[in-house]
Amino acid sequence: MSETPKRQFATRVIHSAQDTEAWEGGTLPPLYQSVSHRHPTADSLSDAFAGKGGHIYGRLSNPTNSVLEAKLTDLEEGRGAVVMASGMAAISNTCMALLRAGDEFVAGRSLFMSSWILFTQIFKKYDIRVRLEDPTDMAAMEAAITEKTRFLYVETLGNPALDVPDIKKLGAMAHAHGLPLVVDNTLGTPYLVRPLTLGADVVVHSTTKYISGHGNASGGVVVDGGRFDWDRKKFADFAPFVARKGPLALLDRIWREHHINHGTTQAPMNSYLTMVGLDTLALRMERHVTNAMAVARFLAAHPAVTWVNYPGLHNHPGHGVADAQFGGAGFGGMLTFGLEDEAAARGLIDRLSLIYHLASIGDCKSLIIHPWSTQYLSFDPATRRDMGIRPEMLRLSVGIEAVGDIIDDLNQALTA
Ligand SMILES: *Cc1c(COP(=O)(O)O)cnc(C)c1O
Repeated sequence: MSETPKRQFATRVIHSAQDTEAWEGGTLPPLYQSVSHRHPTADSLSDAFAGKGGHIYGRLSNPTNSVLEAKLTDLEEGRGAVVMASGMAAISNTCMALLRAGDEFVAGRSLFMSSWILFTQIFKKYDIRVRLEDPTDMAAMEAAITEKTRFLYVETLGNPALDVPDIKKLGAMAHAHGLPLVVDNTLGTPYLVRPLTLGADVVVHSTTKYISGHGNASGGVVVDGGRFDWDRKKFADFAPFVARKGPLALLDRIWREHHINHGTTQAPMNSYLTMVGLDTLALRMERHVTNAMAVARFLAAHPAVTWVNYPGLHNHPGHGVADAQFGGAGFGGMLTFGLEDEAAARGLIDRLSLIYHLASIGDCKSLIIHPWSTQYLSFDPATRRDMGIRPEMLRLSVGIEAVGDIIDDLNQALTA
């Protein structure tokens, strides 16, 4: 392993947790497709079950998955991680490990669609209440905390609202109330920001997006910062996990209670593909952010475009926070913009030729969708508007193609 001295992000993204000696000199980790692992002695398997190390069974852990876990732990500057089958697996397992029937949590209201459904509809079945607030409004977030609150939850950049919560302030506020802060860093990626270094306690990701980058492997991860003090009255139910894993009590609970029993196992092949993609994360993000900035400026100047929502633009309400929080690394690869009305927005999609029309983001290819008539179709119009979805709005995930070609495609479709 080659972690000392601490190298820069663009180097670590390729080289962290590399163990080429163990891999027969191979430069990529081996893909272990074995479900079970043979143990030489009675003690060995019994020790593995006692948590003293060693793989047992594929639903519990896998050596290929472990390498990706070690890489993402390093990149997010956490203390441990578990990869899962999807971003939603990471989000649901984390929330359920923190919550009991009757509990509440406070979440930024600009949420990824499935997170919104899980928090507001599914958790209701278990008598769990989410209080949704504007994540950039510290007073509103704080006022929503009650004695039943178990944690705070925000997205680094809301998908698709693109608001920018101040993680440092939210972390300090959460801790003042004895609560942990969970951050979905899918749109930020550790290239832009490492929320655990700003005071977040847990980071979740859909690795399906930028971390993999090629739209070829669904996946998710929970990275535990290992700094939260679970040893307090409010979290007395964490005592057995604290006794077992100390600072990684939450990750242990997520894994032991939820991940392995819900069967949200990541396929080792997907971890392997994710690691191939991860190697180029820094290079891709560098291009995503410069392309997105240029596309945002082009759209803002186009007469057929009524508004552009991109944190890189000076008129964006989160511009200042994003600039400081992302340390000048850029403002992400996704933007939304409005045309005259719904018909104009849907018409544009039909005239595009380079930009793919599909439901995902964070791919190296440019991707567009009309959220109002697709992902959010089943929501009533007032709820859609509450979530920042508008009929005239398009969501564009700017890819890493030559930016002139992306702009040319938008331009011909806008002026046709
Ligand atoms: C896509 C996405 C998710 C869900 O991830 P899956 O891998 O599709 O389950 C969660 N949060 C955000 C911000 C996302 O963009």
